[in-house]
Amino acid sequence: MDYYSSHITNLIEELSKLPGIGSKSASRMAFYIINMPDAQVKNLVDTITLAKQKVKYCSECFTLTDDDVCPICKSKKRDHQTIMVVENTRDLAAYEKTGKYEGVYHVLHGAISPMLGIGPNDIKLKELMKRLNGDVKEVIVATNASLEGETTASYINNLIKPMENIKVTRIASGVPVGGDLENIDAVTLLKALEGRAKM
Ligand code: ZN
Repeated sequence: MDYYSSHITNLIEELSKLPGIGSKSASRMAFYIINMPDAQVKNLVDTITLAKQKVKYCSECFTLTDDDVCPICKSKKRDHQTIMVVENTRDLAAYEKTGKYEGVYHVLHGAISPMLGIGPNDIKLKELMKRLNGDVKEVIVATNASLEGETTASYINNLIKPMENIKVTRIASGVPVGGDLENIDAVTLLKALEGRAKM
């Protein structure tokens, strides 16, 4: 039985599918939305729709961007011979916020997880390998310090190791085990980057 209008129930159900939103938060949000002015609701819906339509993958690093090539890949000031591999765009943003990393990135959009059935072909690994034909000198593996992140790191290392001109490094510990990069402060991130070691 619906305690509320069926529309509110549906709205709560949809909102609770979002990450980090439990049923309590979802119902708070749903009632808040119902009481919002029409124009504000329309603005929210339009913003979501537009973001979904317009955001695409950078054709080089696969981060989420508005253009075919993202501003980092476009920049001549960046060191295009150094590629930092991260699991997602939020991790890229965490390193960008430090303002100290001058290389470019590659965004995998996930990590290898046999438990969840996510294999090497389900993340942007082939795309990474395609970028290594040019004059790339170093690949910094900055996947998370989780089981999936470590599995992905050693998989990448095994792929690139035979290429003699490319050094593969792994960011140092200091990034706590199981920690998501995006939740770590800039100082710790920089220490992990500076302390990176050859794999
Ligand atoms: Zn890019």
